[in-house]
Amino acid sequence: MRIVLIGPPGAGKGTQSERIVRHLRIPHISTGDMLRAAIQDKTRIGSLATEYLSSGRLVPDPLILQLVGERLAKPDCAVGYLFDGFPRTQGQAVSLDKFLGDLKTPLDLVLELQVSEETLLERLAQRGRADDHPQVIRERFRAYRDQTKPLSDYYRDRGLLVTVYGGGTPDEVFQRIVQAVQNHEPGEDAT
Ligand code: AMP
Repeated sequence: MRIVLIGPPGAGKGTQSERIVRHLRIPHISTGDMLRAAIQDKTRIGSLATEYLSSGRLVPDPLILQLVGERLAKPDCAVGYLFDGFPRTQGQAVSLDKFLGDLKTPLDLVLELQVSEETLLERLAQRGRADDHPQVIRERFRAYRDQTKPLSDYYRDRGLLVTVYGGGTPDEVFQRIVQAVQNHEPGEDAT
């Protein structure tokens, strides 16, 4: 299956992604993790991305699309994959559709985690990642609201969106996700 997981910062995308990929035996493609690794390894993309991650702004689409294109070319992606935190802009979503359309391997499902703002703030306060600083958090919420949230309409219009309530314990959220994946009618050429 080819799945996208979207949701605001603190919605539990990372936690749920780990469970989903174990359950479905597909690779986990987190652009955030890939960017943090690129920064750590001091690659060209890493050095270009640093200022965006530390300010909470989105990395420009061409850099992200390059990272994702390279990742999708690896053989393990043949069985499907879970995108975590990608796409994050309409431009990324349109490019992804075109890319996957050309390969005749369209997305099967887009899961959107929906969580109250109060819960998001509580979770971010507990997490303590380098970019969980109050001013950076504000910027990441703004980026989500202005650039990523509109993707739910984009995918709803294409019949791919399933919204899952992300409140409660990780087990409870995961059960809802498993249910949503089971209930979703797979596409004709789904693998
Ligand atoms: P995440 O780990 O998904 O919360 O991402 C951490 C940071 O990496 C974000 O605040 C952005 O600066 C950057 N980032 C991750 N994924 C993307 C993406 N698909 N498009 C643009 N920026 C991204």
